[in-house]
Amino acid sequence: MPAAESQTDPAVTDPSSPARTPRSVLVTGGNRGIGLAVARAFAARGDRVAVTSRSGEAPEGLFAVAADVTDSASLDAAFSAVEAEQGPVEVLVANAGITKDQLLMRMSEDDFDAVIDTNLAGAWRCARRATKNMMRAKHGRIVFVSSVVGLYGSPGQSNYAASKAGLVGLARSVARELGGRGITANVVAPGFIETEMTRVLPEATQADYRSRIPAGSFGAVEDVARAVLFLADNGYVNGAVLPVDGGLGMGH
Ligand code: NDP
Repeated sequence: MPAAESQTDPAVTDPSSPARTPRSVLVTGGNRGIGLAVARAFAARGDRVAVTSRSGEAPEGLFAVAADVTDSASLDAAFSAVEAEQGPVEVLVANAGITKDQLLMRMSEDDFDAVIDTNLAGAWRCARRATKNMMRAKHGRIVFVSSVVGLYGSPGQSNYAASKAGLVGLARSVARELGGRGITANVVAPGFIETEMTRVLPEATQADYRSRIPAGSFGAVEDVARAVLFLADNGYVNGAVLPVDGGLGMGH
């Protein structure tokens, strides 16, 4: 049987190669934290990178557009601006996310809805908009930023965990629907990463989490960025969930 042709993107087999073709990358929620590290990692390799956030604030050296992922019209305008600046989006990193933690009995419907609307429906809106051009190009990479708690569960985070678990079903459905058109959709599932989101946790809570992580420490934003780049560079990994959690979820 002849060996199957490699599905690794020829343009990125050697990211340091001068022959490598830069890609148009869009990172939602890319003005700080994990999203910013991901955006900087792509930019460092020479890709054309745009970041979005509600404020539209531009980190140094990156192209930025304001977009609220809960608003389709605002997203559409942002995608159009990015396309005009750097060409159709070839790599989408759906990273924007929020938490509104509360125990189930005390959680309001508004807080449940807001988290689902941003984390899950927001990612779906971005994927729907991005795949329009990806289908035309017969090529595209989508990476959804989920969380270890999507599959592990977490008390006080029923809204957040449900939204992050939903991203797995979303990615796998996109993978099945569009895999034949050269589009992959994968998930990274970070554990506890040093960002604003985790810095605000009480010290006792942080210590408790650390004691349950085999690595014994929180991760760095760059650990997540490396995982996102791996998924963006490999055309034969599709519908996968890649944990970046120091072993907390044991690979689930
Ligand atoms: P931050 O709170 O630092 O960043 C969140 C980003 O999302 C910001 O850029 C924010 O921009 C953007 N955002 C929030 N709401 C919206 C919206 N409605 N429309 C557009 N952008 C929005 O979070 P992290 O960097 O820590 O997390 C990034 C992702 O990683 C999130 O999806 C989070 O759930 C996930 N994650 C984080 C972990 C961690 O330990 N930190 C662990 C597991 C997963 P702005 O507010 O300016 O709009």
